[in-house]
Amino acid sequence: MNQRNSAIWVFADYRNYFQNRVTLQLLAKANELAPGLDAEVCAVVFGCETDEYVAEYIAHGAHKVLVVEHPNLKEYSVEKYTIIMEKFARAYEPEIILIGATSFGKEFAPRVAKRLDTGLTADCIGLEITADGNLLQIAPSFGGNLMAEIITPDHRPQMATVRPGTFQEFPHNDDMRGEVVRLKIPEKMPPDRLRLVAYERQPVRDQRLEEAKIVVCGGRGMGSKTKFKKLFELAGLLSGEVGATRPIVYAGWVDDETLIGQAGKHIKPRILFSFGISGAIQHTAALTDADFIIAVNKNPNATMMKMADVAVIADANQVCSALIKTLKERIQSKADYSN
Ligand SMILES: Cc1cc2nc3c(=O)[nH]c(=O)nc-3n(C[C@H](O)[C@H](O)[C@H](O)COP(=O)(O)OP(=O)(O)OC[C@H]3O[C@@H](n4cnc5c(N)ncnc54)[C@H](O)[C@@H]3O)c2cc1C
Repeated sequence: MNQRNSAIWVFADYRNYFQNRVTLQLLAKANELAPGLDAEVCAVVFGCETDEYVAEYIAHGAHKVLVVEHPNLKEYSVEKYTIIMEKFARAYEPEIILIGATSFGKEFAPRVAKRLDTGLTADCIGLEITADGNLLQIAPSFGGNLMAEIITPDHRPQMATVRPGTFQEFPHNDDMRGEVVRLKIPEKMPPDRLRLVAYERQPVRDQRLEEAKIVVCGGRGMGSKTKFKKLFELAGLLSGEVGATRPIVYAGWVDDETLIGQAGKHIKPRILFSFGISGAIQHTAALTDADFIIAVNKNPNATMMKMADVAVIADANQVCSALIKTLKERIQSKADYSN
C-alpha cells in the first residue's frame, strides 16, 4: 500500500452496474483530485466473484483496486461492509473516501464516518482540493438556499457522498493498468442482525433520467395523478424521460426515482420541458446543466418561467395535450407519407 497515506478511495457500488454509473463518475473525479495530493486512486470492492467489476474499475481510472471477497459478502450488507471499511480505513489511512449517494451509500457512509470519528458531507455537487491540501466539499445547505463549502481539516479520512450524475465518467479504456490487492475479510465478523428475505429488482427505465437528452418534468400545476400521467405519453413520443418535483413524489403519483432536485437527481438534458413547476431552489439546483428549458406555467412570475429559454403562460395540461396531439399527427403523417 501507499505509505504516504495519499490515497483517495472510491467505494464500489456495483449493484445494477450498467445502470448505476456513480462509482465510475467518482473514479473520474478522484483522478482529477489526485494530482493535488499526489495520491493514488483506489476502488474498494467488497463482495463475491467481483473480477468483472474490478477490471471495469481499472478501465475507468482506478490505479489500484482493493478487493475483499467472501461468499458471506455476496449480498450488500450495511453492517458487514461498515465493519470491513472501518478496519481497512484504519489500517491504510486514506486521505479521502468517496461514496455514491445511492440508497445503499446513504446508509453506509454515515456509519463509516461515525466509526472513523470523522466528518461526512452528504450529497456533494462539487469537490476540489484547496491550496493547503484539504478536500473542499461543496453541497447544498439550509434547504438548498445556500451552497456550503466544507472542509475537514482536523480529521482523516475526509468523507463525502456524491449524487449519481454529478460528475462525468471516463470512457472505458482497456489499455489502462492497475494493481489489484486482495485483502482478507476480518476474522471476527459479528453475526448478522439482518436477514435478506427477498431481493426484487425495480423495473428498469428505458434510459437513465440523469442521462436522458429530453426530460419532461411535471409539478403540482399538473393538477392530479391522472393528468400527470399524460407526461409519460409525451415523454414516450419524444423518446425522453419523466421527472417530477417533490410534492408529486410525496403524493405518490410517481416513484422517488423520478425526483429531480437537491434530494433527487441532477439532470443534464438537451431539452427540458417543465410543466406546472414553481422553480424552488431545491428543484432548480439540479437543472443547472440543462441546455434549453421550456416552461409552462399560469404564473408568468414563477421562478421557473424566469429561468426558462421559452416561457409559455398557459395551462400545463392543455399545452401537454396539444403537444401530444401535434406529435401524434406528425408521426401519423410521416407514416402515411412513407407508405
Ligand atoms: C430540504 C428540502 C429539500 C427539498 N428537495 C426537493 C427536491 O429535491 N426536488 C423538488 O422538486 N423539491 C424539493 N423540495 C421542495 C421544494 O422546496 C418545493 O416545495 C417544490 O419543488 C415545489 O414543487 P412544485 O413546483 O411542483 O409545486 P409548487 O411550488 O406548488 O408550484 C406549482 C406551480 O404550478 C403552477 N400552476 C398551478 N396550476 C397550474 C396550471 N393549471 N397550469 C400551469 N401552471 C400551474 C403554479 O403557478 C406554481 O408555479 C425540498 C424542500 C426542502 C425543504
